[in-house]
Amino acid sequence: MSTRRNVLLVAGLAAVLCATPALAQGKIKAVASFSVLGDLAKNVGGDRIEVATLVGANGDAHVFSPTPADVKTLGAAKVVFVNGLGLEGWMTRLVKASGTKAPMVVASLGVKPLKMEDEDHPGKELTDPHAWQSIANAKIYVANIREALSTVDPAGKRAYAANAKAYLARLDALEKEVRAAIAKIPTDHRKIITSHDAFGYFGAAYGMQFISPEGVSTDAEPSAKDVAKIIGQIRKQKIPAVFMENITDPRMMQQIAKESGAKIGGTLYSDALSKPDGPAGSYIDMMRNNVREFSKALVS
Ligand SMILES: [Zn+2]
Repeated sequence: MSTRRNVLLVAGLAAVLCATPALAQGKIKAVASFSVLGDLAKNVGGDRIEVATLVGANGDAHVFSPTPADVKTLGAAKVVFVNGLGLEGWMTRLVKASGTKAPMVVASLGVKPLKMEDEDHPGKELTDPHAWQSIANAKIYVANIREALSTVDPAGKRAYAANAKAYLARLDALEKEVRAAIAKIPTDHRKIITSHDAFGYFGAAYGMQFISPEGVSTDAEPSAKDVAKIIGQIRKQKIPAVFMENITDPRMMQQIAKESGAKIGGTLYSDALSKPDGPAGSYIDMMRNNVREFSKALVS
């Protein structure tokens, strides 16, 4: 390479660096409370941000014990994304311990929350936190992430808008795919047992019924009475399949399947992605995996 071309190359590089000061200073450090949200943030942030996820692949965001490393990660964040709707009960203490002053962005803001009565405490209302299981809601998350990143890093506003637009188009396509797959399942087969109530938003959006022994959180084991009730329900309503979840112990569902005669479906990814090389390494792959498992077990 000639000296002249080297000079041009260096000048060009300097121009690029000057035009993008945020990149020259390094990437925007973002923290997402759990893996599903981390993936949405990565899709909107692209190469301008670096996302650290607190509750990682196959982790349970309902009952998380932060480590000193998590405190440090949060302390270094420029922006923090949480789901809200009561999912991350552990976050308040973690924020305090880290001393972070980073804006806390509730990604579900604007979602219409699903409420239900707490079976163990009649009269008490519970909010279902699993809003991401509806793709329409995931689009709201994406819009909130785009706005938050544009505020934290105004120089990246156009990039975030372009990334979000491209990703939202992929979510539109995913939504069509999911609806088409569910439409192929006979209406009276659209009933499923899962270990905890993670699919309320999915059921409401796409017309399926989910029943679970454990409620909307995983913080308490179901009682023998809850399990017996489910077994009775499976027999009475002829529910065809019982599914495992990646974040919960499979043994209870195996027991329920054995005693009720229902078949065991595959593994559903409810509250966490799989490892990157697994079947649900991204939000889009997670939704595809779950719908594929429903179809395998319920289309006959
Ligand atoms: Zn959950």
